[in-house]
Amino acid sequence: MARYIEAKCKLCRREGEKLFLKGDRCYSPKCAFERRAYAPGMHGRKRIFRRKASDYGMQLREKQKARRIYGVLERQFRRYFEAALKHKGMTGANLLQTLERRLDNVVYRLGFASSRDQARQLVLHGHFELNNKKVRVPSLLVKPNDVITVAESSRKKPYFKDLSKVLEHVTTPEWLSLDPAEMKGRVLALPSREQIDVPIQEQLIVEYYSR
Ligand code: SF4
Repeated sequence: MARYIEAKCKLCRREGEKLFLKGDRCYSPKCAFERRAYAPGMHGRKRIFRRKASDYGMQLREKQKARRIYGVLERQFRRYFEAALKHKGMTGANLLQTLERRLDNVVYRLGFASSRDQARQLVLHGHFELNNKKVRVPSLLVKPNDVITVAESSRKKPYFKDLSKVLEHVTTPEWLSLDPAEMKGRVLALPSREQIDVPIQEQLIVEYYSR
C-alpha cells in the first residue's frame, strides 16, 4: 500500500500551521512547529513574508492540508471527491464525512491511537476487528452500528495491556461511542459537518477541483 513517508513535521511547517500528525509530541515543547514556525528549506524563513496567496494557491493549500491531516494520497483523495460529488447534499461536507469514516480515522477518534498515522499502522498489523472480523484495511469506510474492537489476540500485547485506563479519559465525537473497559467503539451515526472538528475550509477544496 502506497503511503506518504516524508517527515511529518515538515508538512506542518509547509502549511504554516500545526496539523497534529504525531500524537503526543504535537502537544509537547518538542513540536517542531513551536521551535521553527517557518517553511522548511533554504528559503523557508523568507516565505513567512511572502505576498498573499492567489485564489488558486489558497485552494491548493487547503486541499493539501486536508490530504495531510487524513494521510491520503492524491489519487485516493480525488476519488473521494468524485464520490462526494455524486452524493446528495454539499460536496465539501460529503468529502469530509467520507474522510472521517475511514477506519484509521475512527480508530484515532476512539483514542486507540494517538495519531491517524499510528492508527493506520495498528490497523495494518491486524490489531482491530470490525463487527467481529479482523480487518487490515485502513481506508475501509465505517457505517452506523459498526462495532470496532481491539482484536482478542492483541489484548495481551504491551501496547494494549493498559489501554483501557487511557481510554477512560478519551472524549469521543458525538457520532461515536466508546466502552473503555471492553476496548470497544460503536458508530452511532454518520458524522455531520458540525461534528467534524478539523480546521479545513472544504469549500476551497471544492473550488480547487471545479476549476
Ligand atoms: Fe506538526 Fe506534530 Fe510535528 Fe508539531 S510535532 S510540527 S504539530 S507533526
